[in-house]
Amino acid sequence: MRYISTRGQAPVLTFEQAMLTGLARDGGLYLPESIPTLTEAQIAAMAGMSYEDIAFTVMRPFIGDTFSDDQFKQLIKQAYADFGHAARAPLVQLDSNHFLLELFHGPTLAFKDFAMQLIGQMFEAALTRSGDRVTIVGATSGDTGSAAMEAFRGLDAVDVFILYPHGRVSEVQRRQMTTPSEANVHALAVDGDFDDCQAAVKDMFNDFAFREEVKLAGVNSINWGRVLAQVVYYFSSAVSLGAPHREVSFTVPTGNFGDIFAGYIAKQMGLPIKDLVVATNMNDILHRTLETGAYTKEGVTPTISPSMDIQVSSNFERALFYAYDQDGATVAGQMDDLKGGGFQISQGAYQMLKDTFKSGRASEDQTSAAIRSYNARHGELLCPHTAVGTHVAEAHLGATPMITLATAHPAKFPDAVSKATGITPPLPQRMADLYDRPERVTRVSNTLADIQAIIKERITL
Ligand SMILES: *Cc1c(COP(=O)(O)O)cnc(C)c1O
Repeated sequence: MRYISTRGQAPVLTFEQAMLTGLARDGGLYLPESIPTLTEAQIAAMAGMSYEDIAFTVMRPFIGDTFSDDQFKQLIKQAYADFGHAARAPLVQLDSNHFLLELFHGPTLAFKDFAMQLIGQMFEAALTRSGDRVTIVGATSGDTGSAAMEAFRGLDAVDVFILYPHGRVSEVQRRQMTTPSEANVHALAVDGDFDDCQAAVKDMFNDFAFREEVKLAGVNSINWGRVLAQVVYYFSSAVSLGAPHREVSFTVPTGNFGDIFAGYIAKQMGLPIKDLVVATNMNDILHRTLETGAYTKEGVTPTISPSMDIQVSSNFERALFYAYDQDGATVAGQMDDLKGGGFQISQGAYQMLKDTFKSGRASEDQTSAAIRSYNARHGELLCPHTAVGTHVAEAHLGATPMITLATAHPAKFPDAVSKATGITPPLPQRMADLYDRPERVTRVSNTLADIQAIIKERITL
């Protein structure tokens, strides 16, 4: 299996190289040269399989000879061993045709654990074999950073530095980043906002001398390894509702388009998915694009679903690549236009996107109302991101079972939940001592040189 860039100008890579590289050198994102399909019999055989066995069946065709079957099975097993639910991704029924896929039973209580735990294992295995080590640097508004630190802590071949905006992440998110005690993970609280953190990371990747010196690697949501790991729960949940003999639909609370794009891959692999519904909060670039065909940037408004507060949706480029029949030059041109504020998608490509994705948006009031009503009607406490999803899903319910992805545990966003319901959701028992663990964090100015100096001083090359 070979991997190509959405902009058509970067070297073709193996799975291992694409995973370790993250962003392609031409600025594009890596995708498999062709999407492997599973037969109806292969999908039917997933009924009754463990999550881990389904994960192996779904991902195996994508990884080429990066890992042997036995080793890959072992890595999958280790990745999900710390999850707090035997099903890993259990399905809960809300209404006769509406289901909730709980993706928050991982160690940091958000769906990002599904991908991050697995790529932590895959990075370590690949690097141990080659004798290399890397420095992972990432920016976070909360969930990605905690998931990365949890996944990589204590591993030998990686140092991890996570930049977060000082004072602007929730207390649970901060503690999840500052309490791991292992020497290879470092939380850096930057005096700035999330955009400053992201700009600093970008600058470090563009500083080729530094990049080389510390062997910089990235695990943000454009990493193909992360998208791939997220394809699995579309299969596990759909099969438990009767696929491949019955169609299902999904509604996905989305920011960077990573999670919903994984659903698109599942569909291309042969999973009978009827609707893929994009659910956004008021930062609705994706909803607007699907309504109008114009992809235009607007400022970011802070919401109670902060993990979806984005201005540019990085993984959307992958969908565009397919919409333009894998024409990298056209995608590169449109991405260039984005620097000027936006671009118009051509008629044919727009039609493909409209045929593939539906969409909806939830206001802040609608999000709070959804949290309140699902608690009143079903006794379910939803995190605000999930509530954006259920609100949008309701407009798309029909004869086909709808699965809404529950992307975080309500206890990760207690303020929004208690404001809507009067109930403060407790942390699961296994992390009830989070507030008692000692914190370790380095406060740093919003200056590239300062941040780079700390990284150079701390790494164990
Ligand atoms: C990251 C995140 C999202 C958005 O996921 P994308 O892959 O960026 O679309 C939604 N909800 C929660 C809780 C998240 O952490």
